[in-house]
Amino acid sequence: MEQRKAEAIILRTRDVGESDLLVTFFSSPYGNLKGVAKGARRSSRRFVNSLTIFSLVELEFRERRSSDLVWVESCELIDGFPGIRSDYSLLSRASYIVEMTEILFPPNVPSSEMFQLLRFALGSISRKGNIEETTIIFQARVMKIGGFGINLSKCGLCGRPYRGRGRALFYTPSGSIVCLACKRESTLTPGMSPNTVHVLGQLQSPCLSFSNTLGFNEETLGELKRVLTAHIENCLGKRLKSARYLQPLPL
Ligand SMILES: [Zn+2]
Repeated sequence: MEQRKAEAIILRTRDVGESDLLVTFFSSPYGNLKGVAKGARRSSRRFVNSLTIFSLVELEFRERRSSDLVWVESCELIDGFPGIRSDYSLLSRASYIVEMTEILFPPNVPSSEMFQLLRFALGSISRKGNIEETTIIFQARVMKIGGFGINLSKCGLCGRPYRGRGRALFYTPSGSIVCLACKRESTLTPGMSPNTVHVLGQLQSPCLSFSNTLGFNEETLGELKRVLTAHIENCLGKRLKSARYLQPLPL
């Protein structure tokens, strides 16, 4: 079978047998894949300590006949994102990111946007960048890329277009904003300022550049956190095991 080579993020590893490793990895051209690295725990020459969870690597693999598992032939470390392992709360964030990716991306769904997002989020956590902002960026974007974007163009109940003025509310059942004539602001229908709606629109845009300044401020971060938590809970619910380990961090 044809040999393939791609940059990938290691999402998960598990010991198999005496010396093999079962590796789950995400790459831009092949999406989420699982493979067996024969002898990875014994001979380190082909893998040079690179098959570590959260690492960015260059990986060579071969498909197997009549199996979804691939053979991982070799792996070279590009960036191990070591900062992630320095702190329990950072490790929890990274685990959450991996879990969201696995839930939203079944095997073999390629996505360069998702690969770039993973690389950005894990890199930012490792550098101990602004973790709350990174989490918000990841949540908004992974939901959009995974097909659960929030509709910001019009009220999901009466259809009135939103023109970027005045507060909008987020209504979970419609996965969209709604207007103040249709609902009242409450914990179930959290409100967003025009800036928050604008920032969320940018986060959902396919042309988002991670180096752009996104206009976050304390109000926007707080509002996005409430909206995205409700949206993710509604769409993915109890499937997210790691969400309850997300420790609140000082903004
Ligand atoms: Zn309305």
